[in-house]
Amino acid sequence: MTIRLLSEDVAARIAAGEVVERPASVVKELVENSLDAGADRIEVETREGGQDLIRVQDNGAGIPAAEVELAFRRHATSKLETAEDLEHITTLGFRGEALASIASVSRVTCFTRHTNETVGTRMRIEGGVVVARAAVGRPHGTELLVEDLFYNVPARRKFLQSARTERSHIDAFLTRYAIAYPHIAFWLSHDGREILATSGNGNAQEALLNVYGMDLGASLLEIPPALTEGQAIRVGGFVGPPSVHRANRGYITLFVNGRWVQDLRLTYAIIQAYYTLLPTKRFPVAFINILMPAEDVDVNVHPAKTEVRFRDADGVFRAVQRVVRATVMEEAPSASPWQAPPPTLPQDTSSATTTRARLAALTPTARQVRLPSTETDTAMPLAAIANAKVAPPPAVTPPPSEPPQVMGTLPPLRVIGQVATMFIVTEGPDGIYLIDQHAAHERILYERMLAAWMQRSIVSQPLLEPQTVTLPLADAGYLEELLPTLRALGLDVEPFGAGTFLVRALPTFLVHLAPADLLGDIVTADERTAVDASLEEMLVRRICKRIAIKAGQVLSREEMERLVRDLEQTRNPRTCPHGRPTMVQIGVEQLIRQFGRS
Ligand code: ADP
Ligand code: MG
Repeated sequence: MTIRLLSEDVAARIAAGEVVERPASVVKELVENSLDAGADRIEVETREGGQDLIRVQDNGAGIPAAEVELAFRRHATSKLETAEDLEHITTLGFRGEALASIASVSRVTCFTRHTNETVGTRMRIEGGVVVARAAVGRPHGTELLVEDLFYNVPARRKFLQSARTERSHIDAFLTRYAIAYPHIAFWLSHDGREILATSGNGNAQEALLNVYGMDLGASLLEIPPALTEGQAIRVGGFVGPPSVHRANRGYITLFVNGRWVQDLRLTYAIIQAYYTLLPTKRFPVAFINILMPAEDVDVNVHPAKTEVRFRDADGVFRAVQRVVRATVMEEAPSASPWQAPPPTLPQDTSSATTTRARLAALTPTARQVRLPSTETDTAMPLAAIANAKVAPPPAVTPPPSEPPQVMGTLPPLRVIGQVATMFIVTEGPDGIYLIDQHAAHERILYERMLAAWMQRSIVSQPLLEPQTVTLPLADAGYLEELLPTLRALGLDVEPFGAGTFLVRALPTFLVHLAPADLLGDIVTADERTAVDASLEEMLVRRICKRIAIKAGQVLSREEMERLVRDLEQTRNPRTCPHGRPTMVQIGVEQLIRQFGRS
């Protein structure tokens, strides 16, 4: 083929691909435009996960009638003039690409009226071409309807995930902005169902409760502004106390000068700040807002604008780490307003508020009825394991004992002791066996719980008082889908509206756990997208991970012996349910060789 210039249409669609990856990117760009336009009320509505329709409406400055067409041209922006302006960007947008990109891969209708003009404009663009335009009366501000996203890019359309997944991406984006911009009233609805409504009264803590729910939201500690007052790099936001942690990094959110960014190094700085405070392989919850001079951060790194470069990356790293560490170490529950009952209910009637009102009616405060949620509390005492044999109800004959173990199983092992409060050292016929106490216990619990489930013998125990758990909106939809399976596993949980769930009953061996922690782990496991033999197995694995004894737990000789004996009884004693080894063997031969004896 000969070399030729791409047609404008093809070039536009290629460029659009970098900005508009999925419906959530459209929401992001449009909401950022609304914020740049000075709106204090932003409404987002979607149909079919945004593939059929995304509507974003604001009460910002609007676009002057003479500039509406220009706004949809590539590299057309009101936010930047000279190359020097790029050195200190204070708006979220500046590339002049978003509207052009969105319009080239969808059918867009734009309604807008500028504050200084008396008449508004309605304009329709399909695949980047203006097909209709008229003057209309309307309040100032802008409303964009984006329909049939990717209708002319079948390749992209094919890669879109289910409406639910796309919705959760939108939820995750908008909820972050709702917390970072408490002065702005955000409203979100999917397929006619209201998902989020913040008051915009400027109370960040209220927005946090609204988005993260009572359980998580109320447990977070506010970073004292005094820690970086008057400094060039200021760090604010909220961080979880050491007792609150999650299975992955998904609950670490970073904003830089009002822009949500993804930054591996800063994420690491936050994790580092919790060094020795969290159990291994657990991650903190943090919502960090960094403010610094615009010229010290370069946002022109990628079309999606979620990556930034810092002039003094080390300085930012240190500031974040120091401030987070100081906040976490300072943790003084009684001094934090967060530990008090939630603030008095505002007067508006948003559904989130009514949920809170309902909650308040249900329990004095959600926190009062909670069990302590530290790892040591939730780790099952070993003594309880013996009784926790997910026993069948007394009237039922016990499950037939496992057939005698034949192949691949363990020889009898003699316990010698514990090393590093992580491993059990045992001796077998051929040398030393080091057992990972957490992995081994996970394996034992996993097989027992699955067996009990298959025999329909999981005993579910009603809670004295049903407990409410509120999950971040982005997780709540996922949990709802899991409810029937959880019920089969003995977890009686029902939806209660706006991300809140009512936990009515739990299997007997789980009743000692804080339901919020348990459900939190069930929805945040890393393997969420992995294909699995069965949903039940996956959920049982997650539950067992939560209840298994942890690294760092000191075990008595008796407890170690019971653990080893129980492990010998399993079908697959050599791996944990996630496939990692439960034990490492060092053969006598190897020892002899290493000592140079042969
Ligand atoms: P950018 O945000 O990088 O400038 P966009 O393509 O997103 O580029 O928008 C182009 C221009 O259209 C903006 O610079 C702004 O002047 C105008 N515009 C877009 N959305 C809005 C809005 N919601 N309210 C007012 N003006 C808007
Ligand atoms: Mg923009």
